[in-house]
Parts: sequence; C-alpha cells; structure tokens
Amino acid sequence: MTKIHALIESKTNQLRSEIISFIQELVQTPSLANEEGPVQKLIFDKLKSLDLQSETIPVKFDEIKNHPAFNDDGFSPDSRINVIGQWNSNKKGKSLILNGHVDVVPTGPERLWTESPWSGALKNDSIYGRGSCDMKAGLASGIFAVQVLKSIGFEPNGNIMIQSVIGEESGGCGTLTNIVKGYSADAAVILEPTSLKLCPIQSGALTFRLIIPGKATHAAMRWDGVSAIEKFNMVSQSIIEFEKKRHSSFSVEYYESPERVAPINIGTIKGGEWHSTVSESVVAEGRFGVFPGESVSDARMAFSEHLKKVSDSDPWLKENPPILEWFEGQFESGRTDVEHSIINNLEIAYQKVNSSPAKIEGVTYGSDLRLFTNHANIPAVLFGPGDVRLAHSANEYVKVEEVLTCIKIISNLIVNWCEE
Ligand SMILES: [Zn+2]
Repeated sequence: MTKIHALIESKTNQLRSEIISFIQELVQTPSLANEEGPVQKLIFDKLKSLDLQSETIPVKFDEIKNHPAFNDDGFSPDSRINVIGQWNSNKKGKSLILNGHVDVVPTGPERLWTESPWSGALKNDSIYGRGSCDMKAGLASGIFAVQVLKSIGFEPNGNIMIQSVIGEESGGCGTLTNIVKGYSADAAVILEPTSLKLCPIQSGALTFRLIIPGKATHAAMRWDGVSAIEKFNMVSQSIIEFEKKRHSSFSVEYYESPERVAPINIGTIKGGEWHSTVSESVVAEGRFGVFPGESVSDARMAFSEHLKKVSDSDPWLKENPPILEWFEGQFESGRTDVEHSIINNLEIAYQKVNSSPAKIEGVTYGSDLRLFTNHANIPAVLFGPGDVRLAHSANEYVKVEEVLTCIKIISNLIVNWCEE
C-alpha cells in the first residue's frame, strides 16, 4: 500500500510537463455552451490512448425533457456529445465515476484579460485562461489519475468511469443524459474547483419573477393612486428579514459562512411608466436559495407563504396580491452524508498526500452534484483543484501544484476504493 503511494507520487511528478500541455491544449480549445465538440474530440482521443473503453453519447433534449431535473438551456441539442471512458467495466468490485464538464462560461470583456482568454499561458506555475480552473484542470486530473495508475501497473477491482460532460453551466443536460441512459457507479467525484476541499453538500437556486401591482394616477394626485414602487419597497425589505429567519431554521453545518447558505437576491427591477405617473406595476426578478435538505416545492411554498403574510398586513396588497412566477433555472440542492464511505475514503487519500487533514465544506453554488444524489442515488462529492472565486472571472487560472496534488489524491482514492 505504502509502495503504491510512493509510485503514484513519483509517476505524477514525472508526468508534470505532459499534464501541463494537456490542460493548455484543453484551454486553447474554446468550449462555450453548444460549442463543446472540438474539446470533446481531444478528450475522446486521450481516453482512447489510455486504452479505456471509450464512447460518445449524443445529448438529445427529446430524451431528457420529461425528466423532473431537466433545464432547457436553449441551445441546439443535437450536435452535442458527452464522452465516457471506462476502465475495467467487466469487474464487479466497487465502481467510481470521475465527472467533469468541458463547457465554459463566456469570457466577458476581453480587455479585462491580460492575455487572450484562450491563451492557456503558463505563468507563475499557473495555467491561465477561461476554463482552466472551472474545470478543465479538474477533468484532466481525473484522466491523469487513471494514466498514473495504469503506468504503474495497478488494476482496479471495479469500473472506473471518466465522464466528460457538456452543458453543466447552463443546467446540467450532459450529466442528466448519462443518468437517464443508466451510467452508474457506487460513488461519483465531480472534479469542480474546490481548492481541494471535500464538498458533499450544495445549496440550490430557483429563478423567480415577482409582479407587484399598483394603481396609476397623475403624480399631482398621487394620494389617489397606489405606488407599486412603494409596495415593492415594503416587500423587498421583508425579504431581507425572511432570508435571515430561514437561516436560523435550517441546518447550516459545514458552511464557511452559516449566514450565507441560501441567499435571496433581487437582480432586476422594472417599474413605472413615466416620472409623473404613480407606478402601475413593478416586475422584479431574482434568485431564491434552497437549503440542503429542502425540496424545491417546500422552498417555493415557503416563499409564497411569506408573500401572503406580508400582503395580508397591507390593505392594498391583501386585495391585490403580488404574483409569483418561477422560470428558467430551477436547481435543487443536494447532499451526501458526510459519514458516507466515499467521503471517508477521500479523506484518507487526502491525508496520504497532505500533512494536514482534509476539510469538509458546503457550497452555495449549483453543480451536477444534485443530479447524482437526487436522481441517480449515487453519493457524490465535489473535489478538485482551483479556487471557485476565480472560476467565472477574468484572468482565471489554476495552480499546477494543486493539479498534481489532486491527481495524487484521486489516484490514492481509486486504490483505496477499488481494493476494498
Ligand atoms: Zn464548474
């Protein structure tokens, strides 16, 4: 066992420049949503070169659109593919999915970048570019863990499945397709940037629209009308209190900031027609945080009940209640029990490579984790190199050292998990 650990260490270090080049090549191949084809071709060729049983899986919205977790990202579905590579799919021991998405978010204004967002430049022992941190380096870590283990002659007793998926940023159609098609394992590691923290818990987020009615009249007689803007202010203030109250009634253990687990944010407001008219209506759109362990329907109900309570305290809103609509992204929360053996095994693997113990943390952003835990009964954990705060920003980067550490940890995890 100790010997394998030492072999993993030295083999990974040997592969350093090959690992860097591969991640650079992935970053230099832009892969915005619906344009993931070229980068998936690179991944497919790489998995084939490792002698994995490799296949491409077309993502067709027709096959997943009736699934309760489906989110339509509005892109043409039929030219998009997932890539899967399986190692020892015939073995019956414990199996593991290593999942990563290749789609990246838009670059934003290029002038904010020091170099092209697709440079893949290597500077200060870090790789720069859109997708470097989120999450091409993570996906590469999973692939290279397999390469390291193969090159030292290790054979897992169960199936190790690399899943390179599309469409995560825009709703998860890639991973959902794999689930609907029945690709499964005893656990999944999603190699998202977590700064190598173990993140088995994530909040959800629901997009909403709130329409607040008023009664228009000439501003000179404003007392005869009802200002939707004033009513909106009242509702908006109450939402801040409501958000606070919700945080005290849910378990927020494992979160770095327990008062920031499930934010409710109003992102846009549009109200009024004309400066000298009392506003007839306000339309506000926002994002409603869902606590781990809270269902989407319970979260929606809680918000409706809150709005009803506020409206009942106001004569106008009581008669003319705000209209609440849910639209676009509707992302559930998800969690895996921190006592689950995959978490335990990952902690052990972490400690083999690092001198300090692993840290377990909940995250407030969405990911494909919920699809595994809620819809495939597969315990899952986010774990990978890179700082999520850099993930969607200009000059995104990932540190090479962290990537190598991740490869070593995932390699050790596979050894522990598949020998049990
Ligand atoms: Zn990501």
